[in-house]
Amino acid sequence: MLSRRDLFRTAAVGTAALVVPAFARAADPAGFTLPKLPYAFDALEAAIDAKTMELHHGRHHAAMVDNLNKALAKHPDWLAKPLVEVVRDYKKLPMELQTPVRNNAGGHLNHSWFWLMMKKDGGAPKGALLKAIDASFGTLDGFKKEFVAAALGQFGSGWAWLVKGKDKPLAIVKTPNQDNPVMDGHTVLLGCDVWEHAYYLRYQNKRADYVNAWFNVVNWDFVSELYAAK
Ligand code: MN
Repeated sequence: MLSRRDLFRTAAVGTAALVVPAFARAADPAGFTLPKLPYAFDALEAAIDAKTMELHHGRHHAAMVDNLNKALAKHPDWLAKPLVEVVRDYKKLPMELQTPVRNNAGGHLNHSWFWLMMKKDGGAPKGALLKAIDASFGTLDGFKKEFVAAALGQFGSGWAWLVKGKDKPLAIVKTPNQDNPVMDGHTVLLGCDVWEHAYYLRYQNKRADYVNAWFNVVNWDFVSELYAAK
Protein backbone atom coordinates (compact mmCIF):
# COMPACT_ATOMS: atom_id res chain seq x y z
CA MET A 1 0.00 0.00 0.00
CA LEU A 2 1.13 3.51 -0.72
CA SER A 3 1.18 6.07 2.05
CA ARG A 4 -0.51 9.41 1.64
CA ARG A 5 2.92 10.99 1.35
CA ASP A 6 3.65 8.73 -1.61
CA LEU A 7 0.38 9.54 -3.27
CA PHE A 8 0.38 13.29 -3.21
CA ARG A 9 2.54 16.16 -4.06
CA THR A 10 1.46 19.60 -5.03
CA ALA A 11 3.12 20.93 -8.11
CA ALA A 12 2.83 24.52 -9.22
CA VAL A 13 1.72 24.52 -12.84
CA GLY A 14 1.50 27.96 -14.34
CA THR A 15 -0.68 30.03 -12.07
CA ALA A 16 -2.71 27.02 -10.92
CA ALA A 17 -1.54 24.26 -8.64
CA LEU A 18 -2.55 20.69 -9.23
CA VAL A 19 -2.50 17.74 -6.93
CA VAL A 20 -0.34 15.28 -8.78
CA PRO A 21 0.48 11.75 -7.73
CA ALA A 22 4.15 11.70 -6.78
CA PHE A 23 4.73 8.72 -9.07
CA ALA A 24 3.43 10.75 -12.00
CA ARG A 25 6.71 12.61 -11.94
CA ALA A 26 9.81 10.93 -13.29
CA ALA A 27 11.83 9.86 -10.28
CA ASP A 28 15.12 10.13 -12.14
CA PRO A 29 16.46 10.79 -15.63
CA ALA A 30 15.87 7.14 -16.49
CA GLY A 31 12.27 8.11 -16.98
CA PHE A 32 8.73 7.59 -15.83
CA THR A 33 7.64 4.46 -14.00
CA LEU A 34 4.45 2.44 -13.79
CA PRO A 35 2.78 3.19 -10.43
CA LYS A 36 1.67 0.27 -8.28
CA LEU A 37 -2.05 -0.11 -7.95
CA PRO A 38 -3.16 1.04 -4.49
CA TYR A 39 -5.40 -2.07 -4.17
CA ALA A 40 -5.64 -5.66 -5.37
CA PHE A 41 -6.79 -6.48 -8.92
CA ASP A 42 -10.10 -7.80 -7.57
CA ALA A 43 -10.82 -4.85 -5.26
CA LEU A 44 -13.14 -3.16 -7.75
CA GLU A 45 -15.21 -6.26 -8.60
CA ALA A 46 -18.38 -4.25 -7.91
CA ALA A 47 -17.66 -2.59 -11.25
CA ILE A 48 -14.54 -3.99 -12.91
CA ASP A 49 -13.33 -7.62 -13.00
CA ALA A 50 -9.83 -8.58 -11.82
CA LYS A 51 -8.66 -9.77 -15.25
CA THR A 52 -9.53 -6.43 -16.82
CA MET A 53 -7.65 -4.60 -14.06
CA GLU A 54 -4.61 -6.83 -14.50
CA LEU A 55 -4.44 -6.33 -18.26
CA HIS A 56 -5.35 -2.66 -18.09
CA HIS A 57 -2.63 -1.83 -15.57
CA GLY A 58 0.05 -4.39 -16.42
CA ARG A 59 -0.20 -4.27 -20.21
CA HIS A 60 -1.98 -1.14 -21.46
CA HIS A 61 -0.68 1.36 -18.92
CA ALA A 62 2.77 -0.25 -18.77
CA ALA A 63 3.12 -0.03 -22.55
CA MET A 64 2.36 3.69 -22.49
CA VAL A 65 5.02 4.32 -19.83
CA ASP A 66 7.58 2.38 -21.90
CA ASN A 67 6.65 4.20 -25.09
CA LEU A 68 6.78 7.59 -23.36
CA ASN A 69 10.30 6.88 -22.08
CA LYS A 70 11.37 5.72 -25.54
CA ALA A 71 9.92 8.83 -27.19
CA LEU A 72 11.74 11.14 -24.77
CA ALA A 73 14.98 9.13 -24.56
CA LYS A 74 16.97 11.93 -26.20
CA HIS A 75 15.28 14.66 -24.10
CA PRO A 76 16.34 14.15 -20.47
CA ASP A 77 15.06 17.64 -19.62
CA TRP A 78 11.55 16.46 -20.57
CA LEU A 79 11.94 13.20 -18.66
CA ALA A 80 12.61 15.30 -15.54
CA LYS A 81 9.45 17.41 -15.85
CA PRO A 82 6.25 16.76 -13.88
CA LEU A 83 4.00 14.61 -16.03
CA VAL A 84 1.23 17.23 -16.09
CA GLU A 85 3.66 19.68 -17.69
CA VAL A 86 4.70 17.16 -20.33
CA VAL A 87 1.04 16.58 -21.19
CA ARG A 88 0.18 20.28 -21.24
CA ASP A 89 3.26 21.44 -23.18
CA TYR A 90 3.88 18.61 -25.69
CA LYS A 91 3.50 21.03 -28.62
CA LYS A 92 6.84 22.58 -27.63
CA LEU A 93 8.58 19.32 -28.61
CA PRO A 94 9.95 18.62 -32.10
CA MET A 95 7.10 17.83 -34.49
CA GLU A 96 7.92 14.12 -34.84
CA LEU A 97 7.63 13.60 -31.06
CA GLN A 98 4.36 15.44 -30.53
CA THR A 99 1.98 12.62 -31.42
CA PRO A 100 3.76 9.85 -29.47
CA VAL A 101 4.17 12.10 -26.43
CA ARG A 102 0.58 13.39 -26.63
CA ASN A 103 -0.71 9.81 -26.67
CA ASN A 104 1.65 8.16 -24.20
CA ALA A 105 2.17 10.98 -21.69
CA GLY A 106 -1.57 11.65 -21.83
CA GLY A 107 -2.24 7.96 -21.28
CA HIS A 108 0.25 7.72 -18.42
CA LEU A 109 -1.32 10.71 -16.65
CA ASN A 110 -4.89 9.58 -17.33
CA HIS A 111 -4.30 6.10 -15.94
CA SER A 112 -2.17 7.25 -12.97
CA TRP A 113 -5.10 9.42 -11.92
CA PHE A 114 -7.73 6.82 -12.86
CA TRP A 115 -6.36 4.21 -10.43
CA LEU A 116 -6.50 6.74 -7.58
CA MET A 117 -9.97 7.89 -8.55
CA MET A 118 -11.33 4.43 -7.74
CA LYS A 119 -11.48 2.31 -4.60
CA LYS A 120 -13.47 -0.51 -3.11
CA ASP A 121 -16.72 0.85 -1.61
CA GLY A 122 -16.10 4.36 -2.85
CA GLY A 123 -19.08 5.78 -0.98
CA ALA A 124 -20.75 9.03 -1.97
CA PRO A 125 -19.69 12.65 -2.36
CA LYS A 126 -20.24 14.88 0.65
CA GLY A 127 -19.45 18.32 2.06
CA ALA A 128 -18.24 21.05 -0.28
CA LEU A 129 -18.02 18.65 -3.21
CA LEU A 130 -21.64 17.54 -2.85
CA LYS A 131 -22.72 21.18 -2.64
CA ALA A 132 -20.81 21.91 -5.85
CA ILE A 133 -22.44 18.91 -7.56
CA ASP A 134 -25.91 20.09 -6.51
CA ALA A 135 -25.18 23.66 -7.63
CA SER A 136 -23.88 22.48 -10.99
CA PHE A 137 -26.16 19.56 -11.91
CA GLY A 138 -29.20 19.88 -9.60
CA THR A 139 -28.67 16.56 -7.85
CA LEU A 140 -26.14 13.71 -7.70
CA ASP A 141 -28.39 11.76 -10.07
CA GLY A 142 -28.41 14.76 -12.40
CA PHE A 143 -24.61 14.67 -12.40
CA LYS A 144 -24.54 10.93 -13.10
CA LYS A 145 -26.99 11.28 -15.98
CA GLU A 146 -24.94 14.03 -17.60
CA PHE A 147 -21.67 12.15 -17.02
CA VAL A 148 -23.03 8.95 -18.60
CA ALA A 149 -24.29 11.00 -21.56
CA ALA A 150 -20.78 12.42 -22.06
CA ALA A 151 -19.25 8.94 -21.76
CA LEU A 152 -21.66 7.58 -24.37
CA GLY A 153 -21.23 10.66 -26.55
CA GLN A 154 -17.50 10.09 -26.87
CA PHE A 155 -17.41 8.33 -30.23
CA GLY A 156 -14.76 5.60 -30.20
CA SER A 157 -12.02 5.65 -27.57
CA GLY A 158 -11.61 8.36 -24.97
CA TRP A 159 -12.53 9.62 -21.53
CA ALA A 160 -15.34 11.42 -19.70
CA TRP A 161 -14.28 13.93 -17.05
CA LEU A 162 -15.51 16.05 -14.16
CA VAL A 163 -13.53 19.30 -14.03
CA LYS A 164 -13.75 22.63 -12.27
CA GLY A 165 -16.21 24.83 -14.13
CA LYS A 166 -16.17 28.43 -15.24
CA ASP A 167 -19.73 29.77 -14.70
CA LYS A 168 -20.68 26.84 -12.41
CA PRO A 169 -18.43 25.17 -9.82
CA LEU A 170 -18.18 21.97 -11.87
CA ALA A 171 -18.39 20.93 -15.51
CA ILE A 172 -18.30 17.72 -17.53
CA VAL A 173 -16.08 17.37 -20.57
CA LYS A 174 -14.95 14.48 -22.76
CA THR A 175 -11.67 13.91 -24.56
CA PRO A 176 -10.74 11.61 -27.47
CA ASN A 177 -7.97 9.01 -27.33
CA GLN A 178 -5.60 9.73 -24.39
CA ASP A 179 -6.04 13.50 -24.33
CA ASN A 180 -6.44 15.02 -20.87
CA PRO A 181 -8.44 18.15 -19.97
CA VAL A 182 -5.24 19.85 -18.68
CA MET A 183 -4.42 20.30 -22.39
CA ASP A 184 -7.33 22.77 -22.47
CA GLY A 185 -6.47 24.41 -19.15
CA HIS A 186 -9.00 22.52 -17.05
CA THR A 187 -8.51 21.33 -13.46
CA VAL A 188 -9.25 17.59 -13.38
CA LEU A 189 -11.37 16.11 -10.58
CA LEU A 190 -12.56 12.75 -11.91
CA GLY A 191 -12.12 10.73 -15.08
CA CYS A 192 -13.66 7.57 -16.51
CA ASP A 193 -11.80 5.53 -19.11
CA VAL A 194 -14.26 4.56 -21.86
CA TRP A 195 -11.81 2.75 -24.10
CA GLU A 196 -13.16 -0.73 -24.78
CA HIS A 197 -10.13 -2.26 -23.01
CA ALA A 198 -11.51 -0.75 -19.78
CA TYR A 199 -14.76 -2.71 -19.85
CA TYR A 200 -15.12 -5.13 -22.77
CA LEU A 201 -14.50 -8.45 -20.95
CA ARG A 202 -17.49 -7.97 -18.64
CA TYR A 203 -19.70 -5.51 -20.47
CA GLN A 204 -18.90 -6.09 -24.16
CA ASN A 205 -20.51 -3.19 -26.05
CA LYS A 206 -22.62 -1.99 -23.11
CA ARG A 207 -20.68 1.13 -22.18
CA ALA A 208 -23.60 2.67 -20.25
CA ASP A 209 -23.81 -0.40 -17.96
CA TYR A 210 -20.08 -0.09 -17.27
CA VAL A 211 -20.21 3.62 -16.42
CA ASN A 212 -23.28 3.21 -14.20
CA ALA A 213 -21.56 0.39 -12.30
CA TRP A 214 -18.33 2.38 -12.18
CA PHE A 215 -19.98 5.01 -9.95
CA ASN A 216 -19.92 2.31 -7.21
CA VAL A 217 -16.14 2.42 -7.09
CA VAL A 218 -15.48 6.16 -7.44
CA ASN A 219 -13.07 7.31 -4.71
CA TRP A 220 -15.04 10.40 -3.67
CA ASP A 221 -12.56 11.26 -0.91
CA PHE A 222 -9.85 11.64 -3.52
CA VAL A 223 -12.13 13.72 -5.75
CA SER A 224 -12.84 15.96 -2.74
CA GLU A 225 -9.11 16.45 -2.19
CA LEU A 226 -8.64 17.47 -5.81
CA TYR A 227 -11.60 19.85 -5.54
CA ALA A 228 -10.25 21.42 -2.33
CA ALA A 229 -6.76 21.96 -3.81
CA LYS A 230 -6.31 25.51 -5.04
MN1 MN B 1 -7.23 2.61 -20.41
